[in-house]
Amino acid sequence: MNKNVRVRFAPSPTGPLHIGGLRTALFNYLFAKKHNGTFILRIEDTDQSRFVEGAEQYIIDALNWCNIPFNEGPYRQSERKHIYKQYAEQLIDSGNAYYAFDTTEELDFHRKDHEAKGKTFIYNWHNRLKLKNSISLSEEDVKTKLNSGDDYVIRFKSPQDETLRLKDIIRGDMTIDTNILDDKVLFKSDGMPTYHLANIVDDHLMEISHVIRGEEWLPSLALHQLLYNAFGWEAPEFAHLPLIMKPTGKGKLSKRDGDRLGFPVFPLEWKDPKTGEVSKGYREEGYFPEAVINFLAFLGWNPGTEQEIFTLKELIADFDLERVHKAGARFNPDKAKWYNQYYIMYVKTIEELTDLFIPTIQKRTNYIIINNDKSTKYKKIRQEYIDRSNYENIDLGYVARVIWSIRAKASYIDDFWSLSDFFFEPPNSYDKKAVKKQWKEDTPNLMKAFIAFINHFDFDDTSTWLDYEIEKWLEIKGVHFGKLALPLRLCLVGSLKGPFVNKIIEILGEKETIRRIEKAINTIKN
Ligand code: GLU
Repeated sequence: MNKNVRVRFAPSPTGPLHIGGLRTALFNYLFAKKHNGTFILRIEDTDQSRFVEGAEQYIIDALNWCNIPFNEGPYRQSERKHIYKQYAEQLIDSGNAYYAFDTTEELDFHRKDHEAKGKTFIYNWHNRLKLKNSISLSEEDVKTKLNSGDDYVIRFKSPQDETLRLKDIIRGDMTIDTNILDDKVLFKSDGMPTYHLANIVDDHLMEISHVIRGEEWLPSLALHQLLYNAFGWEAPEFAHLPLIMKPTGKGKLSKRDGDRLGFPVFPLEWKDPKTGEVSKGYREEGYFPEAVINFLAFLGWNPGTEQEIFTLKELIADFDLERVHKAGARFNPDKAKWYNQYYIMYVKTIEELTDLFIPTIQKRTNYIIINNDKSTKYKKIRQEYIDRSNYENIDLGYVARVIWSIRAKASYIDDFWSLSDFFFEPPNSYDKKAVKKQWKEDTPNLMKAFIAFINHFDFDDTSTWLDYEIEKWLEIKGVHFGKLALPLRLCLVGSLKGPFVNKIIEILGEKETIRRIEKAINTIKN
């Protein structure tokens, strides 16, 4: 790329950022980083009636959480409003725009009148002369109207009978017949530009090299190109990203789909300032920002290889607008979850997971988490056996071993607690159904024998003895593994959940294992 890459993410602060908007931000960020360019945040807040308190901060927080911060801005169009009027006037002077005085009621009347005749009302060369504007009215009338204080707007004068050529990096070349374009409002009498004018003026003044935005803006491209032509400015290059589609069926992904199918469509939780309604966010649902970025990148782009897991750095290196496709990208909430699971299982380190889990343990229990062994922090996962006779303290290594044993079953950090609560609190009741099925008359004796057996062993000996020794013991006793394992699990867990029972013993340690078995023998009556 030989020009200086400057891209912008230009959301309107009308509510929380939808993941579609976040995907647009991400693609802008990746493109900027790839080309050593600048990623600008521009808040397009010219429509004051749609302004929502807190939305701008939300957008900034979401970008930061995803680790895709902007490096210029935020610019706010409301703070730049003095800039735009002169550009609207410049277009009037050059004959590319005009004043229009039609009231809302008059325009409504024309619309309905056309409808009744089976036609569509378009404000352009078809009927400009029949309407109230500075093309149809005399110079004097126009002056009087402008001075009268009545409302007026400035409209763009769309050319007649021209074929416009448009270019899009993703969609290729397109042609448009200008006769179908209406004369869009550029400036309103409240002193505010509309989106179209402010957007083009800012892209020009901010020297934006590439406009990367959602497909919903494609219909505006013709007007934008015409505006660049009218100003005599070089247009940036355009890339319109494919829509993000519902998980099933037709149409764009909406918040309602998320509510219906139980997944967030926002990066962060959002509380509507007017209604107080709270919408779920990926962050609060326990997603890693890296996983969110990873699945968002695949909504409309693919690397052309089998690789699915990408760090942000790898995305920057491999991202290419040429590889963004035109067709709508179907959003798959299961895939999003799969990414998070993958990150828990293979990408996040035990240290990171331990740090993320500790606040939950502290919320749910009275334990103080201590780090007994700084030099080997988290490392000796299998070798250390902890005697947890003191329930007030938990060693970090213990938490790490617990996580190690359950993480394959977790999709989110929030799953950790329900998968592992029994490691932190001995069961105080036993699943009735399971007791009925698994706790036989001879079970207490078998459990007692098992206590005697593990009492014999030096838990600190090696890391692999347990599976082998238990197997040998069962063989000598002529007992099937299931006959031991299921009631044993009941003793240790209180139900039939949890990782492999030997693993549970290994993590709980000898004393705690024996304590729990004894308690169960004394408590369970079947
Ligand atoms: N303000 C527009 C939006 O809310 C920006 C569209 C563009 O990027 O040109 O998406």
